[in-house]
Amino acid sequence: MADKLTDIPGVGPSIAEKLIEAGYTDFMKIATATIGELAEIDGISEKAAAKIIAHARELCDLGFKSGTDLLKQRKTVWKLSTGSKELDRILNGGLESQSTIEFAGMFGSGKTQIMHQACVNLQCDDMIIADKEVLSENEFENRKAVYIDTEGTFRPERIIQMAEALGIDGQKVLDNIFVARAYNSDMQMLYAEKVEELIRSGNNIKLIIVDSLTSTFRNEYTGMGKLAERQQKLGRHMATLNKLADLYNCVVLVTNQVASRLDTFFGPAEQPIGGHIVGHAATFRFFLRKGKGDKRIAKLYDSPHLPDSEAIFRITEKGVHD
Ligand code: ADP
Ligand code: MG
Repeated sequence: MADKLTDIPGVGPSIAEKLIEAGYTDFMKIATATIGELAEIDGISEKAAAKIIAHARELCDLGFKSGTDLLKQRKTVWKLSTGSKELDRILNGGLESQSTIEFAGMFGSGKTQIMHQACVNLQCDDMIIADKEVLSENEFENRKAVYIDTEGTFRPERIIQMAEALGIDGQKVLDNIFVARAYNSDMQMLYAEKVEELIRSGNNIKLIIVDSLTSTFRNEYTGMGKLAERQQKLGRHMATLNKLADLYNCVVLVTNQVASRLDTFFGPAEQPIGGHIVGHAATFRFFLRKGKGDKRIAKLYDSPHLPDSEAIFRITEKGVHD
């Protein structure tokens, strides 16, 4: 049921209308907005914005929740198959909604292939695991994906090839992907923010992909002097993605390049870009590497509730599978 914004003390019909127009359609969105964001709306002062946010927070019961409530919320999490049973196994079923999942690895390790396969699998009913008693029927109706492509490697032909291998209509899959080519980090961030508009205008976005998360930032912010600014922006970008994942029960997938570390004798020689910012913002982290032939090895190494483990899968003309 939609929230009635006029239930917020201090919000009359005209302010409510302005809030809705600006995209603040429910209590949660207002509760998670910043004072600066709300104060940009005509007729809302900073002081009023602070009050509105505080009241919205009370109304959506932000604050401590019991473990039982959280367990209930966890039941709304659904999972999307990667296409590989092995990879799904170490994920305990598949790619989880309400989280951001990072795939890092060298070029050719299979990151972009996994992203394409996820778009295809989203259109297959039997690739989705969901608790039907908790999620309503329309949760997955006309579901769509957003693909923010920063490297120019999205290939519709590849989508069709993967879809045909599964016996589904490639054209239908393509019709349900919004692709945005981002040439720089500002465009990339803007596209992520625009996803909310797509959702509000009636598109049931269930999968959001950023391929890759870090390449634009890495190219634009070179040198130590720019590092702080880069990390700050990257952190903001990831916060946008995490918020989308939570508010709209989406799966968010990001890819990441790796860089060689010259300063280590021990530990991995290659590390994902983005440092702690990306590390903390991603819920699950994978490291991919090439094996023999079409084999790939995925190592899950940072998950809140799953053990570190490895899976071997393959990338062939059919796509991602065991
Ligand atoms: P990255 O990690 O750099 O994003 P990709 O996901 O693009 O790497 O993986 C590229 C690799 O995927 C290719 O080197 C090839 O091994 C495999 N691949 C891509 N397309 C096909 C295809 N149509 N048939 C078979 N293998 C493919
Ligand atoms: Mg790629």
